[in-house]
Amino acid sequence: MDTVKLTDEPVADQDEEGLFGEIDLVTTADIEVPQSLIDQVIGQEQAVEVIRKAAIQRRHVMMIGTPGTGKSMLAKAMSELLPKEEMQDILVYPNSDDNNNPLIRTVPSGRGKEIVGAHKMDARKRAQWRNMLMLMIVFGIIGYALISGMLLMGIIAVAFIFLAFRTMMPRDDVMVPKLLVSTSKDAKAPFIDATGSQAGALLGDVRHDPFQSGGLETPSHDRVEAGAIHRSHKGVLFIDEINTLTPHSQQNLLTALQEGEFPITGQSERSSGAMVRTEPVPCRFVMIAAGNLDAMQGMHPALRSRIRGYGYEVYMKETIDDTPKNREKFIRFIAQEVKNDGKIPPFDRSAISEVIREARRRSNRKGHLTLKLRDLGGLVRVAGDIARGEGAEVTTAQHVIAAKETARSVEDQISDEYIRRSRDYDLTIVSGTAIGKVNGLAVMGSDSGSVLPIVAEVTPAQGASGTVIATGLLKEIAQESIKNVSAILKKFTGKDIRNIDIHVQFIGTYQGVEGDSASVSVATAVISAIEGIPVRQDVAMTGSLSVRGDVLPIGGVTYKIEAAAKAGIKQVFIPASNLGDVLIENRYKSMIEIIPVSHIEEILERALVPENREGFLVKLRKLAEHAVQPQKSQS
Ligand code: ADP
Repeated sequence: MDTVKLTDEPVADQDEEGLFGEIDLVTTADIEVPQSLIDQVIGQEQAVEVIRKAAIQRRHVMMIGTPGTGKSMLAKAMSELLPKEEMQDILVYPNSDDNNNPLIRTVPSGRGKEIVGAHKMDARKRAQWRNMLMLMIVFGIIGYALISGMLLMGIIAVAFIFLAFRTMMPRDDVMVPKLLVSTSKDAKAPFIDATGSQAGALLGDVRHDPFQSGGLETPSHDRVEAGAIHRSHKGVLFIDEINTLTPHSQQNLLTALQEGEFPITGQSERSSGAMVRTEPVPCRFVMIAAGNLDAMQGMHPALRSRIRGYGYEVYMKETIDDTPKNREKFIRFIAQEVKNDGKIPPFDRSAISEVIREARRRSNRKGHLTLKLRDLGGLVRVAGDIARGEGAEVTTAQHVIAAKETARSVEDQISDEYIRRSRDYDLTIVSGTAIGKVNGLAVMGSDSGSVLPIVAEVTPAQGASGTVIATGLLKEIAQESIKNVSAILKKFTGKDIRNIDIHVQFIGTYQGVEGDSASVSVATAVISAIEGIPVRQDVAMTGSLSVRGDVLPIGGVTYKIEAAAKAGIKQVFIPASNLGDVLIENRYKSMIEIIPVSHIEEILERALVPENREGFLVKLRKLAEHAVQPQKSQS
């Protein structure tokens, strides 16, 4: 059992050669950024291939994956790849037969504006003629009235004629069509992001008319508004978090997909718009639906099956292998983000090394780089902003390190605050010893660890046989892990636990405990409580446990170790198989000793206080020799 020595060399020096391989560059300004968006996508080769294929055939695509891995970027890229088609403008005309059923016409791209312009011009001319005619009649009548001395009669006649004109002549705007969807001739196929749209914005709407009569009303066709499905006609409609659309909207979306056209009607039931329903409006879009795994459950089954039947489904990768080729792509990613931002100075080699190191850390897996590139792009921008603020010509590792402090997730900031508070109130004790109390470790959100104190107490059994009672908002897997631990206890302590109840409490778990990474801590706390042997409080531990006592790998090991170090813990036990995943920040390296372990016994040997533990360990070994039959364990 060795402790691990982590090198303290600055990363830039450590990685300079291996990291850059054949690439010869001084800053990211030396790197060429591809023109087309699809070539800028990094690490999602399978998704890129699907998008290329789907674009040629105009197929729908469903993308499932974590936010920030490039789903909307791929959707936008697809709109650039769609085969060139004649774009169309869509116009809505008044219907003289049925005012509530406006007519829809499509015309070649660019013509829509001309048509509306011509109609407006006509209407203006007509109005001029009419006004002139009116004036002539008015002057005629008034003149005649003055001459003949019948002024009152004259005024009455003028008023009468004015009213007759007003009611009988159509208003100028009534006849002018409205341009619903306007495209320009040379433009690429449209890309419309309808994420989070209400029904009206998605499917089109007819505005409410507060006047509705008396010559003041707005003509119904003028109140018609196109929806995202119509604006994406012949292009790409992207909807992220597809499950958040109401079932009604999903149903209508399905109809639109099937028919390739969808009439516009008022979406709000009590509005006057609900009476209006246009002729069907074309909407032949390619749909890209996206979301995380939950999205598939919340999705209308018919809509999903339609996309599946007429398209592709892809799962977005979260990490890629940390190979020279992939690192090269990462360097290009940094160059891309710098270029696309346009305001930040290029990154030098040290800054690139630091970003890649962060990508390794965030991958949470040994030998991998994260593909949650939106967040990493955020880090690039903050580092660049800091460099720019200092007036630096290039962004260096120091700027990236400073940016990591600034650009921390809310969870990470909360976790710091929690550590501070729990120390103020002595919730987390990091020195001395205690019976039945262990410092476990947990992860909050995706990038922040916290110390999770666990206490165990043994009481005489209340019922016929003893039970293990665990509290602290444990979710399913955590509950199960407690059951596994109780199997270990039965065998390893050798005590008749039928006569005792074992209470295990996870302290301060307002968000609940997921996963089974606390099982080594639970086992240690309970063994300490049963045997009355104190546990060192300056150690923390994490690991999943098999029923035989093997320590199995867990997630988020880097963040957990950092949280332990921040809390003032001196030693941390981690599963030996997670050792390669450890990529803690330099500043924590001297603060904490990392001890990889493969069996619970190794933890007990170190974490239990020496004076009392020997007899127990001898007993433990003896018992372990006749231990349980191999059984499938949970990891
Ligand atoms: P999602 O739709 O999956 O939430 P986005 O496509 O909106 O993610 O990604 C946001 C930004 O992050 C992109 O504009 C791009 O700058 C960067 N990004 C995300 N994934 C990738 C990727 N695979 N390759 C290159 N850049 C990416």
